[in-house]
Amino acid sequence: MRMILVGAPASGKGTQAKVLCERFSVPQIATGDMLRAAKAERTELGLKAASYMDAGELVPDEVVIGLIERRLQGADAANGFVLDGYPRTVAQAEALGELLERLGQRLDAVVQIEVPREMLVERAVQRRTDKRTGQIYHLKYNPPPPDAELEHRVDDREETVVARLETYEKMTAALLPYYEGKGLLLRIDGVGTPSEITERLLRVLRKG
Ligand code: AMP
Repeated sequence: MRMILVGAPASGKGTQAKVLCERFSVPQIATGDMLRAAKAERTELGLKAASYMDAGELVPDEVVIGLIERRLQGADAANGFVLDGYPRTVAQAEALGELLERLGQRLDAVVQIEVPREMLVERAVQRRTDKRTGQIYHLKYNPPPPDAELEHRVDDREETVVARLETYEKMTAALLPYYEGKGLLLRIDGVGTPSEITERLLRVLRKG
């Protein structure tokens, strides 16, 4: 399984990517997670990315393209992957296409998780991650256990989420027609419980 999950901030991409990766025994490759790790380690790349991330803007293409090229050549990605949050621009999509061609690999699907904008801000503001496990919770709808070590992403503050939603809308305006033109784009309704969304995902992937 080689697939891309596309969705606005807090649309459930990360949650679903984790489930799909377990199911298909492939790695989840999330540029957002990789960039946050680089930022926390204060690497050169992380420091370069930080100001864009904190403003809810896209990190420059050359930075993320280099990151993903190295990652996809890792041995664990040889038999498949779920890309979560990459590509976000047509330039990134083209670089990915060229890399996969060089590696003799082919994408199976691009799935867009659709959630109305008004629900996304609330989801992001209420989202918490357990630092130790990476598990994602919603304070009201999917409350964390009492012993979780919770973190709230700095870019999940309301004002930054609004900027990230705008960035997302601009991005999808170009990216989705690109994959639609290649006959790879599938769409699912992202409103429901995590397990309902997983079922929808598996159903569209079976139908292709
Ligand atoms: P995410 O965890 O996917 O919401 O990503 C968090 C932030 O990392 C985004 O708001 C961007 O600043 C940056 N980022 C993640 N993936 C990409 C990408 N493919 N292209 C550019 N910036 C990215």
